Amino acid sequence: MLPTTADIVIIGGGCMGASVAYQLAQRNAGKIVLLEREKFLAMGSTGRNAGGVRHQFSTPVNIQLSNYSLDVIQRFAKIFGASAEYRPLGYLFLLTSPQEISVFEKNIALQQALGVHDVTLLEPAEIARRAPQVNLEGVLGGSFCPRDGTADPYTVTQTFAAHARQRGARIETETTVIGIETQNGRVTRVQTNRGDIETRVVVNCAGPWAARIGALVDLEIPIVPLRRQFFNTAAIPEIARDHPFVIEFATSLYFHPDSAGLLIGMSNKAETPRDLDAPNLYAIDETFYHEMLARALYRLPLLENARVTKRIAGLYEMTPDAHPILGATRDVSGFYICAGFSGHGFQHSPAAGVALSEIILDGKAKTIDVSMLDLERFREKRMILEANVI
Ligand SMILES: Cc1cc2nc3c(=O)[nH]c(=O)nc-3n(C[C@H](O)[C@H](O)[C@H](O)COP(=O)(O)OP(=O)(O)OC[C@H]3O[C@@H](n4cnc5c(N)ncnc54)[C@H](O)[C@@H]3O)c2cc1C
Repeated sequence: MLPTTADIVIIGGGCMGASVAYQLAQRNAGKIVLLEREKFLAMGSTGRNAGGVRHQFSTPVNIQLSNYSLDVIQRFAKIFGASAEYRPLGYLFLLTSPQEISVFEKNIALQQALGVHDVTLLEPAEIARRAPQVNLEGVLGGSFCPRDGTADPYTVTQTFAAHARQRGARIETETTVIGIETQNGRVTRVQTNRGDIETRVVVNCAGPWAARIGALVDLEIPIVPLRRQFFNTAAIPEIARDHPFVIEFATSLYFHPDSAGLLIGMSNKAETPRDLDAPNLYAIDETFYHEMLARALYRLPLLENARVTKRIAGLYEMTPDAHPILGATRDVSGFYICAGFSGHGFQHSPAAGVALSEIILDGKAKTIDVSMLDLERFREKRMILEANVI
């Protein structure tokens, strides 16, 4: 039976909802209920994710979210008794113009100033040593951090959820939020397909659907769903299992070892927002798939002999400045947002859960200053620029 009252209702059972639920539960924040409309958790963007985790961002807040989160991901087994499948392959950004080199030199200085001491700029000869199969034509240098890498979004989400449950949180799947009632500007009730829950606090963790949840309380949340796609190959014995996570910055082509083969993706810069009601929401864009394949073959000629085993499309939850929206909302008391991570939410989910729980329980985030990530920044023209979102 669905509870009829809760202290806090979380909408969305991806990595964000699970992380927020865990953090609130471990602080004994009262009766916590997480609602997910699918049969299982992590069926949205979290389950269609390339698993990348990195320190290499270009704004202080993103680097701080990474520092906190990657520390948790590295120590995951110690903290939670389950592995996050963290693999420190190192992210290697391939840079192909003097302008990119100069932007990355600045990024590296900022990352180092914020404690990422092992990030460096590599010469082409060193890149060739680390990634011998990669065609380095036109590559002038590379930005590399050995502690960047990959982890498993599914295990991380399920583990957060399991630990939230152990601490008393209720996780209700196959439960769709269809309305949110307010009185005098304050949240009072969440309506679902299985009944209503009285509550004074709602957290919107609905990822690409976050704008729709905002609309239920007449809030305009600028998060749009953008299709992104990747594919996997069968085994490629020539590629070392600890091969770096390579990204060609100019095109956003990326690849990293996954099982015995490679996971290869690229962002279509011409992509327009998806219709969330479309029956083919996760359809592959064949034209772009072939562009991606051609670029991958150029940088990694040995792919000529590789077999594609799987193709995945998912949704980035993009905000206008590619930074998340994290915090309380001014116009609706009790309505919080933890969404819009613009394609790098999995890796920031540990820190986002901590920050949001502190905002709810302590009035502001103390572990990391995320005050600039409020919804109001769009209205007040305080957008944040991030150069390293791909
Ligand atoms: C192709 C691709 C590759 C990516 N690669 C990376 C990467 O390498 N590293 C990284 O950090 N990030 C990556 N991301 C981004 C990352 O997946 C997202 O930022 C992250 O998963 C967002 O998590 P979330 O919990 O906010 O959203 P989601 O996982 O989408 O969860 C939202 C949940 O809300 C539920 N929901 C929606 N509406 C309702 C409703 N009305 N009632 C109840 N439930 C509802 C949905 O069913 C869904 O489960 C990638 C994304 C894609 C698409």
